[in-house]
Amino acid sequence: MPFGREPSSIPQPGPLSSNPATATLARMKQDIREVLIGRGAIADRIRALADQIAADLAGLGDNAEITIIPILTGSFIFVADLIRELPLKMQIRLISVSSYPGMSTTSKGARLSEQLNQLPTSLTGRHVLIVDDILDSGQTLRLVTDVIQRLEPASVRTCVLLRKQRPEIKHFPVNYVCFDIPDEFVVGFGLDYNDYYRNLPDIVALRSEVLETETVS
Ligand code: 5GP
Ligand code: MG
Repeated sequence: MPFGREPSSIPQPGPLSSNPATATLARMKQDIREVLIGRGAIADRIRALADQIAADLAGLGDNAEITIIPILTGSFIFVADLIRELPLKMQIRLISVSSYPGMSTTSKGARLSEQLNQLPTSLTGRHVLIVDDILDSGQTLRLVTDVIQRLEPASVRTCVLLRKQRPEIKHFPVNYVCFDIPDEFVVGFGLDYNDYYRNLPDIVALRSEVLETETVS
C-alpha cells in the first residue's frame, strides 16, 4: 500500500457543493466575456497536431535525439498535453521568458529568465522543438530561436498553441500552430492575466472591466 496507508484512511473529496474551491471557480467564471475555444476542441486539435509532429520527428529515424523546449510559464498546460501524445523518446529543457509582466496586456519586450533556464551548453546533434503558448508580436520566438541556434542543434522546429491574426506576423516562420485566433487578449489553458486564470480549462476572453486595471510601469 503506498505510504503504508490503508485505503479507508485516504481522504475522499467532499461533495462539490460544499467545496470552497467551487465557489472561487464560479467567481472566476464571472470574469469571462467569451469562451473562444473549449477544452474538447483543444484536446482534439492537440491530438491531431501531435500526430503530425510525431510523424515528422519519427521520420528523422529511431536514433534521433529529440529535445523539447517549453517556454514557461504560459505553455505548461499545452506542453504537458502535447508531449503525452508524442510517443517518442525525448528530453525536456525548460526555459522562461517574460514579456507581459503583471497586469500588462501588451508586450513589454521579451527577456530570457536567468533563474529558470535549463538549456544545456550545447545542443549538437539534437532535434529541437520549441513550444510556446502564443505567437503575438513574434519577439519571444525570435529571441528563443536565436539563442537555441547558437547552441548548434541538428534542427529546430517551433510550435505554438495560438497565433494571433496580426498582419505583422502573417509571414512569421512557425512550423506548427494549434489555433489561429483574433487579435485580442486571452487567458486560460495556461495563459494568465496578472498570473491568474491559468487554470481555466478553456481559452477565453475576459470582460473589459477586468482588464481595465492595466498599469504601465
Ligand atoms: P510575443 O513575444 O510573440 O509578442 O508574445 C508572446 C508572449 O506574450 C506569449 O508567450 C505570452 O506569454 C504573451 N502573450 C501574448 N499575447 C497574449 C494574450 O493574449 N494573453 C496572454 N495571457 N499572454 C499573451
Ligand atoms: Mg509566454
